[in-house]
Amino acid sequence: MFEKILIANRGEIALRVLRACRELGIQTVAVHSTADADAMHVKLADESVCIGPPAAKDSYLSIPSIVSACEITGADAVHPGYGFLSENAKFAEILGEHGIKFIGPSPENIRTMGDKIEAKRTAKALGIPVVPGSEGGVADVAQARKVGKEIGYPVIIKATAGGGGRGMKVANNESELELAVSTAQSEAKAAFGNGEVYIEKYLQKPRHIEIQVLGDGQGRAVHLGERDCSLQRRHQKVWEEAFSPALNVEQRSAIGDRVAKAMCDLKYEGVGTIEFLYEKGEFYFIEMNTRLQVEHPVTEMITGLDLVQEQIRVASGAALLYKQSDIQFAGHAIECRINAENAQTFAPSPGKVDAVHFPGGLGVRIDSALYSGYRIPPYYDSLIGKLIVFGKTRAECMMRLKRSLSEFVIEGVDTTIPLFQRLLNEADIIDGNYDIHWLEKFLARTAK
Ligand code: ADP
Repeated sequence: MFEKILIANRGEIALRVLRACRELGIQTVAVHSTADADAMHVKLADESVCIGPPAAKDSYLSIPSIVSACEITGADAVHPGYGFLSENAKFAEILGEHGIKFIGPSPENIRTMGDKIEAKRTAKALGIPVVPGSEGGVADVAQARKVGKEIGYPVIIKATAGGGGRGMKVANNESELELAVSTAQSEAKAAFGNGEVYIEKYLQKPRHIEIQVLGDGQGRAVHLGERDCSLQRRHQKVWEEAFSPALNVEQRSAIGDRVAKAMCDLKYEGVGTIEFLYEKGEFYFIEMNTRLQVEHPVTEMITGLDLVQEQIRVASGAALLYKQSDIQFAGHAIECRINAENAQTFAPSPGKVDAVHFPGGLGVRIDSALYSGYRIPPYYDSLIGKLIVFGKTRAECMMRLKRSLSEFVIEGVDTTIPLFQRLLNEADIIDGNYDIHWLEKFLARTAK
């Protein structure tokens, strides 16, 4: 087992990883930018190293600074969290060259799955159902038209190098195609430095359902059920739950087993998520995330497993402790992502947090690095905490969520807590009757 892990991240996820390390008896090193000197993960870690100025590219994304921090502190492994360098194959490779273990899959697996076209090709070859679309990138509008004719409209044009819901454009018919392709290409070029795009059938009322997997890199892998992440704003998840209100036990194990088998074939190491759109009983692969997800606690609640500890264990070379039949699912869990944003306009609201009071009690978990007097810096993601609630049934979970939200106090900055309170009064949410467009429509309908 590792002796000292450097956590190459900040905020709630740095704290989450730190907690797992501490329970495993592993020393922790926090890294931070100058803007994060007062952050909770820095206060709680055994050691900390300042790795640069506020801009992420000069600190949390600076590979030389992080490698130096490992060498100075003698860390033998790095946990990348999510975002930042977590899906950077080069980072994993460079750490390897320095004799430091990257806690995550092999650089090859990261690379294959990070290229959306390659990922789709690989998924298809492994027997995972994919969205109908172009075989690879489309070079020009003529080729796009050909694909459009084959698969039928509407279609969605997506950036090969895409992420974070950016660089996607929908064309409802052939006359909209030319503009959609050129806009997607130029947006992709500007955002990712790579203008390549591909085309998929645009599903009109899908749910976003993803399968959590865990593998040991030695050919053993299990699935840990699904999460329904259909409630999204601008393609960003807002609320996640397990199980999906749309799936039954047979559907869950059918898709789960297929994905777990694919991960065995890939000799996948660590945790990963295979994302699908789900419509009319069919699953369509959209992408794989080769890292821990923001919404992983939902899965922890229904399986009782600590996914970060499992990640660390397999990274240290241990074989997977579980067969599929050892994984027991129970209850229902919902996560609400609390952002420092205005709940109506979604304008970011950084600044000083005057007071914080977290809800508690049975079945309530808060993952947050917030404390009273903390100043939320304006440079990073606006996620300031996650409220995760567990219940024996979905109905119990919803009541507990309502109760928890009513206890939650964050003073000094705007937060998205009021949005969740509004959602809990909606019949569709109570019934679990929503698709990936539901939230946008709700926000448009209720905009002041
Ligand atoms: P990113 O990597 O940018 O998050 P994804 O491919 O995961 O991009 O897609 C993000 C979201 O965009 C999905 O959750 C879904 O809401 C929407 N989306 C992606 N592909 C399609 C599609 N073929 N049809 C309809 N919606 C889609």
